[in-house]
Amino acid sequence: FNVPLAVNEPVKSYRPGSPERAELKKMLEEMRSVELDLPMVIGGREVYTDKRVRIAPPHDIKHTLGYYCMGDQSHVQMAIDAALEARVKWNAMSWQHRAAIFLKAADLFAGPYRAKINAATMLGQSKNAFQAEIDAACEMADFFRFGVKCVTDIYKMQPESSAGIWNYNEYRGLEGFIFALTPFNFTSIAGNLPAAPAMMGNVVVWKPSHTAIYSAAVIMEVLREAGLPDGVINLVYAGGPQTADIVLNSPDFAGIHFTGSTRVFQSIWKTIGENIFKYKSYPRIVGETGGKDFIFADPTADPQALAIAMIRGAFEYQGQKCSAASRAYIPRSIWDDVCTRVGNELATVKMGPVEDFTNFVNAVIDENSFDKLAGYIERAKEDVDAEVLFGGNCDKSVGYFIEPTVILAKKPDYTTMVEELFGPVLTVFVYEDEELDKTLKVLDQTSEYALTGAIFSQDRYAIEKMTRMLENAAGNFYINDKPTGAVVGQQPFGGSRGSGTNDKAGSIFNFLRWTSIRTIKETF
Ligand code: GLU
Repeated sequence: FNVPLAVNEPVKSYRPGSPERAELKKMLEEMRSVELDLPMVIGGREVYTDKRVRIAPPHDIKHTLGYYCMGDQSHVQMAIDAALEARVKWNAMSWQHRAAIFLKAADLFAGPYRAKINAATMLGQSKNAFQAEIDAACEMADFFRFGVKCVTDIYKMQPESSAGIWNYNEYRGLEGFIFALTPFNFTSIAGNLPAAPAMMGNVVVWKPSHTAIYSAAVIMEVLREAGLPDGVINLVYAGGPQTADIVLNSPDFAGIHFTGSTRVFQSIWKTIGENIFKYKSYPRIVGETGGKDFIFADPTADPQALAIAMIRGAFEYQGQKCSAASRAYIPRSIWDDVCTRVGNELATVKMGPVEDFTNFVNAVIDENSFDKLAGYIERAKEDVDAEVLFGGNCDKSVGYFIEPTVILAKKPDYTTMVEELFGPVLTVFVYEDEELDKTLKVLDQTSEYALTGAIFSQDRYAIEKMTRMLENAAGNFYINDKPTGAVVGQQPFGGSRGSGTNDKAGSIFNFLRWTSIRTIKETF
């Protein structure tokens, strides 16, 4: 049963002069110079269609990276059929053989494909080199290696037997297929959502976000190179509602592995409910959705650590992480100091295209997102209940650039303190020191989501009190650190309330959702 010890893939620095930087730069140039034509991959076959959709870097919208083939409902049905055809053999394959494929894929992502998956993420999703490295190369390898460890741990979990009786659990894949609906913001999540069920013997229909097709195609390429049999994971590019319509009406729909918006997840859940009589089994519903993640400081907080956490937590990858810090509660007594530090640090932050490695902030994903964010910022500029302290400029002439923006809210329930924006906007509420308890309660009451949150304090009693009072406000809770950057195997990730089913990505809790156990009793 022993598999290689799962360790987190070491993150490379990409500092000037490093070999990894040279390799990545070369890859970026190469990728910018060829024009892509990306097919779907169904039943191991590359499927081209007549309808091509253009792919452009969000930070350089006039440049064409290439095109992908848009499918329709017939392709979704083909993907379901191919998955079901592959199912029997895949499910019957021993876990060691399945695991070997994913261990090999992890080594490919961490090795020969590292530059390619990072560059595809940088160009296609406007993620800078460091953010791409921790996501596309490292977290992907981590998801696969720790995934294999989870699978082996599950297979070891067996019931007791007694004299003359032998009991054991057989961990079967679910009867049917799994639907993986994946987001643009983490390439590793796009890889993990189809891979985790597949590791447990399931077959998958995978629809990636239309804003992350380039990296999805590279993931598929790696999985195939690692030896994934045809039809186990089927990659389709069709419209979201059209895909869902076919998938959720299929009697063989066995579960969904989702990361995306709360609204879409809720509507899928509703459709599953309406269709419940059609299905052979009760589908497993696993989803990670929105967040309105907080930083709460008490008067003893270290102002410099706090300022850095606010900037990194809110603005890395343009705040497009479900875990991003988007609201902060700072006590009056330290606010001036913290505000000065945030301003000083922000002055050093550069914004621009990913090809220039000194840019910390790049473009937001698309025009819809840009317009929505620009709208919130413009309203905050006019609103009597808000003040734009830093940033606030938006420009979509070259790419979808939104300057890192800090808004001061005069009320703790101001719009941008409670609504998810999914962009580089941090709203701060300054509370009076003597109103700490009251503010904690308001924070909890205004948490429609409960994904991540961070508290900053040097006082152990206060830390304990805040941890207890905010018990339901976050599934991932950080003490004296930014609320982003959960590491697979170290901080199992997920939250409750409007943030998802809290099945903890990359952990055994998640993998248990992808098996339907047959318990066998044999009497001698
Ligand atoms: N796991 C990521 C983090 O801890 C966030 C994932 C997401 O945005 O969905 O930052």
